[in-house]
Order: sequence, then C-alpha cells, then structure tokens
Amino acid sequence: MSRDLDIVRSVAELRARVRYWRDQGLTIGMVPTMGALHQGHLSLVVKALEHADRVVTSVFVNPTQFGPNEDFSRYPRQEARDAELLEGAGCHLLFAPTVAEMYPDGFATSISVSGVSEGLCGDVRPGHFSGVATVVTKLLLQCLPDVAVFGEKDYQQLAVIRRFTRDLDIPVAILGAPTLREADGLAMSSRNAYLSAGDRAVAPALLRALTGIADGLRSGARASDLCPRAVGELLKAGFASVDYVEVRDADTLTPAETAERPVRILAAARLGATRLIDNIGCGG
Ligand code: AMP
Repeated sequence: MSRDLDIVRSVAELRARVRYWRDQGLTIGMVPTMGALHQGHLSLVVKALEHADRVVTSVFVNPTQFGPNEDFSRYPRQEARDAELLEGAGCHLLFAPTVAEMYPDGFATSISVSGVSEGLCGDVRPGHFSGVATVVTKLLLQCLPDVAVFGEKDYQQLAVIRRFTRDLDIPVAILGAPTLREADGLAMSSRNAYLSAGDRAVAPALLRALTGIADGLRSGARASDLCPRAVGELLKAGFASVDYVEVRDADTLTPAETAERPVRILAAARLGATRLIDNIGCGG
C-alpha cells in the first residue's frame, strides 16, 4: 500500500517530526542527497531502513560545494519525481529546505577538514569539501539521526564525513554503501544525464581503467606504472581530459604503490563538459 510522502522545508518542521518519532521510541536514519535521484540513492534509503525505524532523505542542491565555473545552476532539479521514488522506496520524510533556510543572511561559518580533503577531488575542486562538510554538519545537527548513509561512489567525501563527525563528536553513526552501476559498469550518477549518446558509450571505459589497475596490482605491478598508463587509455577511449587516476590507502587515503594493504583506486575524468568520478577497492 502506498502512502503519501511528507515534505518539510524548515528546520523547525523537521525537528518537530523527529521529536514526534523519538517520543515513540523510534530510531532515525538520514540520507543526504542533492536530488535527481536514481537507484543508487534509493539503495542508500534501503540501507537506512535496515538500520532505523524512520528514514529522512534530504534533497538540497548545496551552492557552497560548487565552484564558480561548475554546474550549480544547471544541476537537475526534479522534486516531484524524487518524492515519488522516495515514497516507493519506503522513505518516511523528504526534507527539502530552501537556500535561505540553510544559509540565512549573515551566514559566516564553514567547516574545513585537512588531510583527507587534500589531493584527488580536493585539488581539482578548491572549496568543494569545505562546502560538503559544512552542509552535512548542518543537516546532521538539524535532524540528529542515529545513522546517516553515504555512498562509496564519493569515496573521498565519505572519508571527509567520517573524519569531521569523529572530530566534532557528532553523535551519528556514518554508514558507507556500495556503488550501484548501470549494466555496462558506469556508476549511476545524476550527472550521467548530461552525457551525449556518444559520450555515454565511452563512459564505461572509466571503470575498465580502474579494473585494469586492480588486475595489474594483483599481478605485482606498481601504481606509479599503472596509473599513467590508465590515463593514456582514457584519453584514447575518448575522454577529453583526466583530472587524476590514483591508488590510495583505503583507510587513510595516503598514496599507495602496491595492494598489500586494502587500497582504493580512484579516478576523475571529463567527457565533454561532464566530469565523472569512480573508484573501486582492491587488495589487503
Ligand atoms: P548526490 O546527490 O550525488 O550528492 O549523492 C547523494 C548520496 O548518494 C551520496 O552519499 C553519494 O555518494 C550517493 N550516491 C551517488 N551515486 C551513487 C551510486 N551510484 N551508488 C550508491 N550511492 C550513490
């Protein structure tokens, strides 16, 4: 039986709803998103439902995590469809605040996380992780869920979120969830909608490059040989440019040469104007 999904737009309404559930002894899970939802996002909702009685999904296209030349204004916004998908997945509440609700006049605070925010996407997108850390801190404090679920698709982001929740004693358990992929291996992403048919056909080469590196590491080759080769393969496949292809320690995100310990192989590359990121685990 379907039930209507409630939508709230203010922090006060969100807190009232959470208090109502808490008074009944229920636990709360949260799934922060920027909307334009796909099955990957819905898998996070399903995971949250496994760990909590009630699930709140937030949809907020956060301006502070986009650079001046990035896609904030054209980022897909489709709230009615998102609400339908969330309802079907069993989500209980959609929190969809306005920019003014999240960043009232005079807003002057930001959370910056050193170490794990540096390198990889942190170098290519200055200020991005500070924008993410600030908005996720706010969302977690607004809702104060028991658990919050984030995708491994954004692996560095997950590491940043784990770091600041621990450092700031935010009393929320952070859960990671595996990346959902299209049949040809492309990681699901709201930004895949930007791809032309030609670029969409090239896109699976990103995962192939990562799995090629994993195979190489398993047979004893070193990251410093494998990664530059993968960059060449991506350019040859039709990517316009490659931001990085790197092997990092899966826990600390420090550079790794071999897969003796668990590593993460991470890449970001551009197809036309669209920037795709992906990563896989290996070794240990
Ligand atoms: P976004 O709306 O793209 O900022 O993503 C919201 C959440 O969904 C983040 O925790 C992402 O890591 C996660 N996510 C995005 N794509 C996927 C995917 N293909 N599989 C699993 N989780 C994902």
